[in-house]
Amino acid sequence: APEPQVVLSARGLGKDFSGFTAVNNVNLDIHHARIHALIGPNGAGKTTVFNLLTKFLPPTRGRITLLGTDITAMKPDAVARMGLVRSFQISAVFPHLTVLENLRVALQRPAGLATQFWRPLSSLRRLDGRADELIEGLGLTPWRDIRAADLSYGRKRVLEIATTLALDPKVLLLDEPMAGMGHEDVHTVAEIIRDVARDRAVLMVEHNLSVVADICHRVTVLQRGEILAEGDYATVAADPRVRTAYMGS
Ligand code: ADP
Repeated sequence: APEPQVVLSARGLGKDFSGFTAVNNVNLDIHHARIHALIGPNGAGKTTVFNLLTKFLPPTRGRITLLGTDITAMKPDAVARMGLVRSFQISAVFPHLTVLENLRVALQRPAGLATQFWRPLSSLRRLDGRADELIEGLGLTPWRDIRAADLSYGRKRVLEIATTLALDPKVLLLDEPMAGMGHEDVHTVAEIIRDVARDRAVLMVEHNLSVVADICHRVTVLQRGEILAEGDYATVAADPRVRTAYMGS
């Protein structure tokens, strides 16, 4: 089978914080319809890489390309409008609103960020159609009219992902989507991420390695800001350097 299209790539990416090199010489290719995991011990630079890719931080070195466009000098909201979306960016779930109402709000904010372009009332019906598609697609139908505050923790995270999908991102960055979840929720959310990645790229930081093994096509291991290993899970997990890095943390 042909390699799927590269939608996001970084070349020679690096970040120094007042003399301290947090990320160095990172090359990444994120593919359409693939789930890519970024793993590594605490302090390896995973969050910094996310902040660089989403343009929350300016890189000290290197270039980032999104869908063929050099985005190295672009602002975070412009990059989000191009289709690179990080889960928490727009995942403000309003606890007092129902699942449906939360999705209405998300769908009314196509830019996703601070700027809000409220749509005319006439388009609300179309929004509701799309909201119901998302609700059904993510298995939230029984909770459609339940307030977000009354959802289980796992389902709240699913709602967050749903609000993110309202922007129809081409690349979805998920920051520890399984954090704090019980077994059953982990399974549900893993299936949802797999589904979501059918027609977009997903890059996720995840500490739950059995989830990474289960759903990720490719794994990049960071250590002290540099790429230590990359490949499918079985390959990187068998790499003695990766084992040492994890035991040393
Ligand atoms: P991870 O997400 O893998 O735990 P981080 O990207 O948060 O790693 O951090 C990588 C390194 O960069 C750490 O040593 C951290 O202390 C340092 N670091 C991160 N952000 C800053 C900052 N704003 N100023 C100085 N050092 C930072």
